[in-house]
Amino acid sequence: MSHVFPRHTKVQPPVAVAGEGCYLIDSTGKRYFDGSGGAAVSCLGHGDPEIIAAVQEQAGKLAFAHTGFFTSEPAEALADKLAALAPGNLDRVYLVSGGSEATEAAIKLARQYHVERGETQRRHVIARKQSYHGNTLGALAAGGNAWRREQFAPLLVDFSHISPCYEYVLRRDDESACDYGQRAAQELEDEILRLGEDSVIAFMAEPVVGATSGAVPAVEGYFERIREICDRYGVLLILDEVMCGMGRTGHLFACNHDGVVPDILCIAKGLGAGYQPIGAMLCTAEIYSTIENGSGFFQHGHTYLGHPVAAAAGLAVLTAIEERNLVGRVRAKGDALDAALREAFGQHPNVGDIRGRGLFRGIELVSDRETKTPFDPSHRLAATIKKAAFAEGLVCYPMSGTRDGRVGDHILLAPPFIIEDAQIDEVVGKLTRAIAQSLPKGST
Ligand code: PLP
Repeated sequence: MSHVFPRHTKVQPPVAVAGEGCYLIDSTGKRYFDGSGGAAVSCLGHGDPEIIAAVQEQAGKLAFAHTGFFTSEPAEALADKLAALAPGNLDRVYLVSGGSEATEAAIKLARQYHVERGETQRRHVIARKQSYHGNTLGALAAGGNAWRREQFAPLLVDFSHISPCYEYVLRRDDESACDYGQRAAQELEDEILRLGEDSVIAFMAEPVVGATSGAVPAVEGYFERIREICDRYGVLLILDEVMCGMGRTGHLFACNHDGVVPDILCIAKGLGAGYQPIGAMLCTAEIYSTIENGSGFFQHGHTYLGHPVAAAAGLAVLTAIEERNLVGRVRAKGDALDAALREAFGQHPNVGDIRGRGLFRGIELVSDRETKTPFDPSHRLAATIKKAAFAEGLVCYPMSGTRDGRVGDHILLAPPFIIEDAQIDEVVGKLTRAIAQSLPKGST
């Protein structure tokens, strides 16, 4: 009997023993193509000698020094690099151990910023339905994903949620993408006014929605309008790029595509590329100086903040992304993946939408393409595809999500940036077989 507390208590997963490039290998020798990089983590693939060397070197030099007493060379160097590469004046970097820690820190920093300015009446954070910001209690409350929240309701902190910008499902036939984006963004202003125009701390969103919807980017103009609304009401804009950041969408930061700069930006996953657990919260000079000139202390912290070995891994990953021109490669291979998905599924009667940016691609499955009707949840389609793909030797990220109260099934692909063209064909081939085996009988 295993003493590990697994994710799913009724499933005994295979034992992963090795990683080579885009593949994971289990203890029986079976190879799996890592088509989602775990959950958009392994952007460099497995076994990268440069990152391994950087981790080993730092572990040998200095594994840990508590940030209550010290800073460290890799933490300083990583923060300098992130601040130099980040858009706008996001020039202070708070290094944490993962995505939920980054979003939690963001929510608390936003609250403390307003408190230090004497705006204690600001109590609400607005996020979006169909979003995921992490699993700790604050981050869970921010996320609008019903199935993750329901067992914990009522949540200790509650957030309000507006609709996501989800063109495939929510754009009306009689409106342009641009008009739809403005209508979707208007929900934020309406919600701020409903709650009280000076009572909102922050608005939080993923620039490209990952796990809950399968790589859904916003339409053009949406985030620009969101930025205007936030500025008008003194609401901080927190962008969660935990999944879609670090080059995944073909820009180093996903918000570069939308042309907006948030007040606080969260990254994780691809920053450590799986070699170390690391995340970061970046904030503007203005937010930082408010704390600096106020209490002088951000009332937050974790033991492993700025962990030297994790920071060394992050620095090596960022350097590799830059020096190997991987963001350019993501764009090229992303286009190739998109083309291959359209070739395989463009006419498929149960594929309603193929979307995404860079190497962050999603497919939405529907029982009827014309009406965009999702499959009945009793089919557990996403879970069945995940299982079938795994048996085929493909790790991908099928999920069910609620869309307007109805369940929809989608597949998220986020392969390593080093994927080759032949491997794109391998992924699409395995996925095609997995979907064919999993669709309810008579649905095609
Ligand atoms: N935010 C987003 C957008 C995510 O996709 C995730 C994880 O999937 C998180 C936050 C939480 O990150 P972690 O699992 O590292 O805590």
